[in-house]
Amino acid sequence: MERIRLHDKYFKTLIPADEIQKHIALLAEKLNNDLKNEEKVLFISVLNGSFMFTSDLLKHIKVDCELAFVKLTSYHGAKSSGKVDNVMGLNTSIKGRSIVILEDIVDTGLTIQTLNELLLMQQPKSVKICTFLFKPDCYKGSLPVDYACMTIGADFVVGYGLDYDQLGRQLPDLYVLDE
Ligand code: 5GP
Ligand code: MG
Repeated sequence: MERIRLHDKYFKTLIPADEIQKHIALLAEKLNNDLKNEEKVLFISVLNGSFMFTSDLLKHIKVDCELAFVKLTSYHGAKSSGKVDNVMGLNTSIKGRSIVILEDIVDTGLTIQTLNELLLMQQPKSVKICTFLFKPDCYKGSLPVDYACMTIGADFVVGYGLDYDQLGRQLPDLYVLDE
């Protein structure tokens, strides 16, 4: 178990890179099967946290698809601010499209709830939620989380795209706060 320091906090390995990659391959298999009859799926990746997940997952996707990146922030430091901003960067029309949202982590569910509502205003055919990490113990939402690559506890995690005050995104393993 590797222990690392980011800013003032210590973190220890929670999920090693090879295990993450195995789960991503399994998730992709499920998506390839579920999406095979959809016409040109649009993956909407939520920056910054989901860049690594998006990149690794999409290498396994075999159906025709397009990719868009959006930005929408709700998290500052190690505690959710609970405030979600608007969707930035979505220049494509999504009317009638089959959408799959790619998120880094679903915690309270506020972010995906807001994003889902904003997207539905543009009348897509469907919106599915696909997240790298899901914290069921923190989830307060009513929307189904259609695809969760991995489920974790309530503790704060970093690595594999996720940051602690902007540090740690480049780490290929997932780490959890070590107190
Ligand atoms: P929610 O709106 O579901 O409460 O929070 C979702 C957002 O909070 C995620 O997209 C992510 O940016 C951030 N977040 C939630 N939990 C964690 C965590 O354990 N670590 C990090 N780095 N970010 C988190
Ligand atoms: Mg996020």
